[in-house]
Amino acid sequence: LGAATGSGALPAEPVARAEITVENPHGLHARPVARLVALVREHNAQLSLRNLTTGAGPAAATSPTQLATLGVQRGHRLQVEATGPAARQALDAVVTLARSGFGDDDLLTAAPGPVATNGRVNGLSNGPGPQAVSPGIGIGPARFWRAGPAPRNGTGDGGPPDADVELRRLHDAREVVRRTLAGLAASTRAELGAAEAAIFTAHEAILDDPGLTGPAETAIRAGQSAEAGWSRAVAAAEQAFAALADPYLRERGQDVRAVGDQVLAELTGGGAGGPSGEGVLVVRDLTPAQAAGLSREHVTAIVLAQGSATSHAAILARSRGIPAVAGAGDDVLQLPEATALIVDGTTGLLLVDPPDDVLGRYRATAAEQGERAAAEQARAGEPAVTRDGRRVHVEANLGSVQDALDAARLGAEGAGLVRTEFLFLDRAAAPDVDEQEQLYRAIAEALPGLRVTFRTLDVGGDKPLPYLRTTPEANPFLGVRGVRLTLAAPQLLRDQLTALVRVAREHPLGIMVPMVSTPGELQQVHVLLADVLRAETGGVRPPGLELGVMVEVPAAALKAAAFAGLVDFVSIGTNDLTQYTLAAERGHAGLSALGDALDPGVLRLVEAVCRAGAGRFRVGVCGEAAADPLAGPVLAALGVTELSVSPAALPAVKARLREIDLADLAERLPACLALPDAGAVRSVLTSERS
Ligand code: PEP
Ligand code: MG
Repeated sequence: LGAATGSGALPAEPVARAEITVENPHGLHARPVARLVALVREHNAQLSLRNLTTGAGPAAATSPTQLATLGVQRGHRLQVEATGPAARQALDAVVTLARSGFGDDDLLTAAPGPVATNGRVNGLSNGPGPQAVSPGIGIGPARFWRAGPAPRNGTGDGGPPDADVELRRLHDAREVVRRTLAGLAASTRAELGAAEAAIFTAHEAILDDPGLTGPAETAIRAGQSAEAGWSRAVAAAEQAFAALADPYLRERGQDVRAVGDQVLAELTGGGAGGPSGEGVLVVRDLTPAQAAGLSREHVTAIVLAQGSATSHAAILARSRGIPAVAGAGDDVLQLPEATALIVDGTTGLLLVDPPDDVLGRYRATAAEQGERAAAEQARAGEPAVTRDGRRVHVEANLGSVQDALDAARLGAEGAGLVRTEFLFLDRAAAPDVDEQEQLYRAIAEALPGLRVTFRTLDVGGDKPLPYLRTTPEANPFLGVRGVRLTLAAPQLLRDQLTALVRVAREHPLGIMVPMVSTPGELQQVHVLLADVLRAETGGVRPPGLELGVMVEVPAAALKAAAFAGLVDFVSIGTNDLTQYTLAAERGHAGLSALGDALDPGVLRLVEAVCRAGAGRFRVGVCGEAAADPLAGPVLAALGVTELSVSPAALPAVKARLREIDLADLAERLPACLALPDAGAVRSVLTSERS
């Protein structure tokens, strides 16, 4: 992200200006906007933004709706203008926030694992069909959202509304909603994590948006009821969203609608309402507050007439393990109550009133899936030994202490990747050695006696650190990231190595260096590590301490033998390795079929690394391919001995390996490596499986 600041002076009031470029993949959507608004409100200054790329604006920086309707997409340049006593400080703070990607890791906007295939709805005319947004099968009678108690009249006497009374009612309703949202933010943070809770914080910001409250209060003063004034303001804001060009930002109008509906429900005494009974909830869309209240026990599946994989309802359904499809079309809302439904949230299938034999088949499949998951979990603590007696170590990828605790419970045999960058992003200064040591120790202690591999800071390029000056790059994925960045800022790396060495005195611990292209880069890390060891242990290397690299750059894979003697282990990062090998950006929705680690080009690189490592260093994989039911066994057959996957995937990955004869699979690999693309490899492996 590039930023340039400058200031000018108008006769009456000093004005400070800055230009920023937005690099967030989804532009300035609800959560980044909420952070911006909260930051601006901390300063005694008035800020406005203009979208220099589209010419939209200006928008007040305290109004989420005005800001969102600037339609800011990735790559857009904005001009920020500040006036008032704290103009300069406010501006600097905004520039810093922008440099950190507005504190947005876009966790919540990532599509779910198995991305939607074409869904089918029988018995209903509809468009492209539902999209799979939360995996699993759910069966049950159709249920609909039932509003709370009947509305009551605002002023109560049927006469013309009294403006003061109506203003008070609107204020009180907003206060009730504010308390609800604050409670939901707190409970969601505790239950699911900060990223999920951010939805509710964003909604709190909308509640105080002068772009909504201003027009609503004006309408009330002009003689409208609180309900009418508020509805009108919400509808106007929604219309502004509907006019936006970017589909993702356009969809964010649902946040305004959600908050608007909640306030309206309070005003009319309607309350939040809930499903009309136990079964499959069929609903146009759900507000986050509504979705947060649903439980797997009462709601067997969710069918959203609208929405998408990135809608908040979909995100929360996934977090709660409720199967769901989205975008089923408004026809589903006309179904009679209690119509029998089958929802397959893995494939994007919705069956309406299915015949008994189909119902029976899906019931059996759902029961099987449930039993299989339970059986896999029951054996999660056992090692994964293939049918021909090969042991594959199954480890976990971690980003927090909570992840480590989950991994321990689900049978992790260590951690193959701790993404330490989560500790460094979204803050004003780097954590000091003590803070890092504390966190690393807590993670290691959650997996007592097991090797935990910490990756050194993997930022830069597309993930800038607010406190580290970097030059804007035209192509950040090919820029100064990973080890390139930490070698350019050696104090950061030295502090991190110091904290890790301290923990390594008590726990088996790996230090893993990301984005390595040449052995020379690793030699520089060795020099720094030797320095740290001299300072911390008198030069003695703790016996449990290992050093390794991630292979994510195709050149590093092809010359892996050059790392022998410098590393104890190598972990292949198939996410980046695939993107660089196929020249297909990893987050690009339109390129997901191309960017598949089962492409024979990627598999040949994995094979090259395994061949180079034989007898010299261990080879693992910590990219998403390790958890793929088809790719994981192939990687093991190529010679990978450690697979590191997300904690939730541990039991299934182990179970899959136990079903495989690796020697047999290895014999069939040459034929796979000769195929033209990943699709062909998948077809061959799938047909052999069935
Ligand atoms: C990878 O690139 O495969 C990897 C595991 O690292 P990350 O996804 O964090 O880039
Ligand atoms: Mg990577």
